[in-house]
Amino acid sequence: MTQNCLCGKSLIDLAIVGAGPGGLTAGLYGARAGLHTVVYGDPYEGQLARAGTVENFPTQTGSPTGLSIIEKMVEHAGEFDYELIEKKVKQISRNLHDGHNIFTLTMENGDCTCAYSVILATGTKYKKLGVKGEEEYYAKGVSYCTICDGPLYKDLPVAIVGFGDEAIMAALRMANIASHVYFVGSKPKIGGDPNLRAEIENEESITIYEDVRILEISGGSDGNVNQLILKQRGNQVSLEIGAAFIEVGVLPSSAIASGVGIELTGQFIKVDHSQATNVHGFFAAGDITGGQGRQAVISAGDGAKAAISTIDYIKRLGVSHSKLKTTQWGSIKGNQKAKQKQTVLASKSGNALYDYVHSDEGFAAGYQRYEPDDKLIREFVTKMPTGKIVTVSAHWCPDCRRNVPRMAKITEEFTHWDIVVEDRDKEGVREKYNIRKIPTFIIFDKDGNEINRIIENPKYQSLEEDLIKIADGNY
Ligand SMILES: Cc1cc2nc3c(=O)[nH]c(=O)nc-3n(C[C@H](O)[C@H](O)[C@H](O)COP(=O)(O)OP(=O)(O)OC[C@H]3O[C@@H](n4cnc5c(N)ncnc54)[C@H](O)[C@@H]3O)c2cc1C
Repeated sequence: MTQNCLCGKSLIDLAIVGAGPGGLTAGLYGARAGLHTVVYGDPYEGQLARAGTVENFPTQTGSPTGLSIIEKMVEHAGEFDYELIEKKVKQISRNLHDGHNIFTLTMENGDCTCAYSVILATGTKYKKLGVKGEEEYYAKGVSYCTICDGPLYKDLPVAIVGFGDEAIMAALRMANIASHVYFVGSKPKIGGDPNLRAEIENEESITIYEDVRILEISGGSDGNVNQLILKQRGNQVSLEIGAAFIEVGVLPSSAIASGVGIELTGQFIKVDHSQATNVHGFFAAGDITGGQGRQAVISAGDGAKAAISTIDYIKRLGVSHSKLKTTQWGSIKGNQKAKQKQTVLASKSGNALYDYVHSDEGFAAGYQRYEPDDKLIREFVTKMPTGKIVTVSAHWCPDCRRNVPRMAKITEEFTHWDIVVEDRDKEGVREKYNIRKIPTFIIFDKDGNEINRIIENPKYQSLEEDLIKIADGNY
């Protein structure tokens, strides 16, 4: 069937884009029904990974974190026969063959896949404010997530810039952490929920500025944010801050489907009651559909519905090479990948990062899943046979849970390196290493001089590529 695929690959039955509750649930249903299913996306990038405590996901008692729920979803998915590929899809296109659609998904790294059907579950991403300093000071005090980064600014004054209930909740959250919170209302009136509004007004450690225009976020000589400059009723005000959290809403991540001819409502994907779009074979689930109440359980339900609709669609087409089950409710486990489930192992290699990662099941599972680029690692070690790498991490941070296990696997080959792990929550670590975002990987040369740092996520395609750029002196 390769001739029907624009990039000459075999066709799969179902490509799911998005590894949040919508995509992972759809994957489970698709794979259980016997569809050849692949899920693209990064579970740590979705909203649930950044949700903090979640009290309303059925079966999840004891107020777990969203991060732990998404890790359980990944583990559950691992029990079934579908692939989770942590790559970003850049564009989806469509061509017609034998009267039905074929979808081509092109990844950011140029790889491509063809599928008879697609479920789009790409959720939403944070809106930018669009002011001077916002880009420049990102990860140096500008953040879009109080849950991910709030604890980094303990005992410092911070600003929350926004207007809605989520911004108010962020301010209330930070009131327990920061030395003072400035709530900077970027619209004439803040909040919708009167109870939340009353709560923020009664909170002594929050000062409210309503109906302001933000002029600039600026920084000091250390390169970190130190001021928010705004205009309120003609007066210019400068607030001394350690961080500015932008909470001005979300935008649906629907642009990758613009070439398919999907009908939108605003920028959200328009679907019917079966999660079908106007294009045959193309379904959508979760926050991307802009349905009422963006919630994890709703996205998961949408994902299940979208997959059931896809199963029916593929059966009607009669194209699948897989053995489709007659119902999707049978007890069918895939290749039992769950048997490989990680147990917590410690002190195997004497590498501090390995031990750190294997003291936590979620980290250990990420370590297992990662396939490092051995060629690039060997190249790096040839360029820099010795040195020191300090990893500053915390267990609650989504980007740490993605990248720290990967770095642990990469540094296994750093046999002549000094490998140090520092827990960000330990007294004095933030100040000692001047940390504004985690994870931070600090690379020192053999003489102990800092040569560079990888902050939060790789700048290039992978941590391995970043390391090569650092070794070459052009990071
Ligand atoms: C602070 C906060 C608190 C919350 N609290 C709760 C709560 O208490 N209870 C609750 O039920 N809900 C809560 N939510 C909402 C909930 O997290 C979301 O409704 C839910 O995660 C949406 O699921 P989704 O699968 O639609 O999208 P997401 O979870 O956002 O997942 C989107 C996925 O798409 C992937 N993706 C995006 N673009 C691409 C691309 N181009 N290529 C490949 N993959 C891509 C991402 O990597 C990610 O894996 C909260 C959200 C936030 C931000």
